[in-house]
Amino acid sequence: MELWYTEQHTDNVRFSIKVDKPLYSGQSEFQRIDVFNSKEFGNFLTLDGLMMVTEKDEFIYHDMIVHVPMATNPKIKNVLVIGAGDGGTVRELTRYSTIENIDMVEIDKMVVDVCREYFPQTACKLDDPRVRLYFEDGLKFVRSKENTYDLIIVDSTDPFGPGEGLFTKEFYGNCYKALKDDGILVNQHESSYYEEYAKSMQRAHKRIREIFTTCRVYQAHIPTYPSGYWLFGFASKTYDPLTDLDEQAWNSLGLKTKYYNTDIHKGSFALPNYVLDLLVNAGE
Ligand code: SAM
Repeated sequence: MELWYTEQHTDNVRFSIKVDKPLYSGQSEFQRIDVFNSKEFGNFLTLDGLMMVTEKDEFIYHDMIVHVPMATNPKIKNVLVIGAGDGGTVRELTRYSTIENIDMVEIDKMVVDVCREYFPQTACKLDDPRVRLYFEDGLKFVRSKENTYDLIIVDSTDPFGPGEGLFTKEFYGNCYKALKDDGILVNQHESSYYEEYAKSMQRAHKRIREIFTTCRVYQAHIPTYPSGYWLFGFASKTYDPLTDLDEQAWNSLGLKTKYYNTDIHKGSFALPNYVLDLLVNAGE
């Protein structure tokens, strides 16, 4: 008998991975959590049936969500990470000795516990002494912060269920307030290819654009996310990810990365025309 994990990407499109072994299933206060093992992608985590992370392609997502802002402002010291329960974002951040503090706010402790057990590859740096873990709603956490962080990374689920609040105007406004004057906000920005995702992407872009002076979108190829094409948002009060990129400074750090390099950094902001149109026409 064959066992397959199938995710419905649209009413007419499904994506499947052959499962070698189901490893974990549980229901937290917030969502259903599953872990499977597969030959092609290694272990993978789904929340409410949606793909979150696989051992094989997580490096692409985590490189792009962390190294793009870090290469734009290498002086970043104080970071807030929202969501990110698998630990991959924190793992990449801890590679910078210049970072002094990482507050990670994950709503669901069970995700972190499960990832510590089944995803040591991503969860391996959650006990770094610079990391403080908070198990609460990121939307609420950020409300009370002012002029505190150099970088906020929103590594969330999609804009429904517990992640919904992390795509609201109120949340982006509070992130703006929580950032220092030269702060950067990076968020997972959904995808432009399938209509439902494109609508979420446009909504997020419109809301961020209303608040931040610099508001850019960049792309990466992520095989296990819907359509395999994913976007990230870069917003800032001062920094521009292209003109402020200091290639020499980042390259002199000697960090070994499997996806990110400074050419990818520059190229990832070159978007296809249909994506540019969607962004320009982003409305409620
Ligand atoms: N890389 C992934 C992606 O784009 O599919 C996201 C992975 S990470 C596991 C997403 C995390 O965000 C989940 O663990 C979820 O519990 C957390 N999350 C969702 N809503 C949240 C909220 N309001 N506050 C904090 N964390 C939240």
